[in-house]
Amino acid sequence: MKRKYFGTNGIRGVVGNHMNPIFISKMSSAIASYMLDKGTMVIGADSRLSSPLLKSVIIASFLASGTEVIDVGTVPTPLLQFAVPFLKADMGIMVTASHNPPEFNGVKVIDSDGIEIDTPKQLKIEQTYEEENFSYVGWSENKEITKIDVSSEYIDRMIGLVDLDKIRRRKLSAVVDGGNGVGSLVTPILLRQLGVKVISLNCQLDGSFPGRGVEPVPERLSLMKKITTETGADFSIAHDGDADRAIFGDDKGKIHYGDKSIALFEKWVLQQNENKRFVTPISSSSVMTDIIEEVGGKIFWTPVGCIYVSRKMIEKNCILGGEENGGLFYGPHQSVRDGMMAAALMAEILANSEKRLSNLLLEFPNYYQRKDKISCPEDLKEEVMEYIKNNVEEADEIITIDGVKLFFSDGWVLIRPSGTESIFRIFVEAKTSKRAEILMNKSLELVRKAIAKYKI
Ligand code: MG
Repeated sequence: MKRKYFGTNGIRGVVGNHMNPIFISKMSSAIASYMLDKGTMVIGADSRLSSPLLKSVIIASFLASGTEVIDVGTVPTPLLQFAVPFLKADMGIMVTASHNPPEFNGVKVIDSDGIEIDTPKQLKIEQTYEEENFSYVGWSENKEITKIDVSSEYIDRMIGLVDLDKIRRRKLSAVVDGGNGVGSLVTPILLRQLGVKVISLNCQLDGSFPGRGVEPVPERLSLMKKITTETGADFSIAHDGDADRAIFGDDKGKIHYGDKSIALFEKWVLQQNENKRFVTPISSSSVMTDIIEEVGGKIFWTPVGCIYVSRKMIEKNCILGGEENGGLFYGPHQSVRDGMMAAALMAEILANSEKRLSNLLLEFPNYYQRKDKISCPEDLKEEVMEYIKNNVEEADEIITIDGVKLFFSDGWVLIRPSGTESIFRIFVEAKTSKRAEILMNKSLELVRKAIAKYKI
């Protein structure tokens, strides 16, 4: 069954359109009715202008269902995810639209273990919503709203997981670009407590995100780059709107997309630990597999999406997970993406190395990547995918957990239908530019042929 309201990361939309008080109230009642038999819910919100609106409606709907509500305030998503098991609550709601533009907002529904709920639960909530099968309590059963600030416990937890003395001795400095989002509330404080000198940029909360926009894409981080080189900082870090992701820049100002920084975390964490189990989505770079071979670890692939990575980490007892968009999952802290934890770990890596970050990142090979997409009507996606799976060329290994991924000795191809748009996405990576071009052309030809076969 296909989901109607939930997307890759919760329910999102433009506020005022379908994200209006009536929809939010009904959906919150559906979530409360399906997820809880009374119990306790923890709520947090990002810095968007519409977040107080959504939050009030959600709280009212949960109170109507007889739920006790704990409000942890304006916080990053990973802090809310920490708070749910920490406060022994039954579930959590994070009001956020992550990296989407300012007019968007949404909710992430968090299970009692701090991880977003899985697809079967999302489908049950949607069914409850459609059937309007809501359970409300009488006036005498309405519970309280308690305000609790768990930010110091959250920061202490992360500090306890790194070598504080060593980091302090190294006297590092970092530029933190909060992007006017909620990461600004934690990362500068965390790094300062670790003895890192922080130069903050765009760290004033502003729901219109006037600084550099909500999404930390490298082309928007030119000011962070400039300030890093001018101040001689050891590294820079930029968060997305709810700070579950972190994009790093090196001491020379160069911004690295997630695959390089995740590779660095992977190498460092797996080398230091007995547990060398690592989880990553099927779209990740070969750099991840190179490191697994180097350290003698084991890699587990998941479909694209952070919930799959989190759940696989628990299932296979993995210490680390990583996504190329800058999502780092550090098991000893929590099996969810956490941009603040990534900041603390980066400080620890640099404190332990003689080298600067630019040199550390040079150690990883450069692969040639290509990305492309082809339109495909939504109702043909399944048949087209099936045809592609049956007609791909011979490869060393073929994985079909999310689209089809072909591994060759000198590169790989991933063809997958988009979960949100009527397109097929094609990703290619190879050791040479020429090989990447050949793989891409062959894949485009195959997808076009498959679509032509079914299109009337
Ligand atoms: Mg996010």
